[in-house]
Amino acid sequence: MIIAVDGPVAAGKGTLARRIAKKYSLKYLDTGALYRAVGLKLLKSGQDPTDPVAAVAAARQVGDISPDDPALRDEKTGEAASIVAANEGVRAKLLQYQRDFAKRAGGAVLDGRDIGTVVCPDADVKLFVTASAEVRARRRFDELTGKGTATTYEAVLEDLRLRDARDSSRGAAPLKKALDAHLLDTSKLDIEAALDAACRIIDAAHKGP
Ligand code: C5P
Repeated sequence: MIIAVDGPVAAGKGTLARRIAKKYSLKYLDTGALYRAVGLKLLKSGQDPTDPVAAVAAARQVGDISPDDPALRDEKTGEAASIVAANEGVRAKLLQYQRDFAKRAGGAVLDGRDIGTVVCPDADVKLFVTASAEVRARRRFDELTGKGTATTYEAVLEDLRLRDARDSSRGAAPLKKALDAHLLDTSKLDIEAALDAACRIIDAAHKGP
């Protein structure tokens, strides 16, 4: 079984996708981490994420960044990731890795922006996880201040809107709900309620009509 979980930044899709993978004993891939690794590789070597040649070269060396590097989660890495993610050459370099992962025996859950539309258009179940911009900004603000980052709610909301606009308006694999994806709005749901809702969708899809 392949489950595609897409949605905008801070919609809760990462936590949800991890919990789904655990519950159904599936492998899990956070595809945003691949784009973050490309962005971080460029930042670490003092290169500009808007430089298309440097970005494609960094995508070839994405394995150099450890998945445990805490800098992967920084806001500036997320920003660089969103810039390199608009580059078609970078996306092409990362596509095969994601598809091979999805085909692994036993099935997989992948979360990202284009899993249901581009990476795994034939996924067994597609979820499009979203929440209002204000709720997502509040969650991200709480997460950042919890880690000791100095910021304001307004600054987080503005960054999030910029990232949404860039992810949704780019020509290459923009963020959009696949026609056959189930919409899951988590604005009023905590993680347990979101997991329950997701499991109902998955179980119904798995049993078939
Ligand atoms: O999900 P996360 O915030 O870690 O993703 C970082 C950035 O990577 C996103 O803003 C988006 O631009 C990009 N991304 C993407 N396609 C994916 C996953 C992430 O374009 N499948």
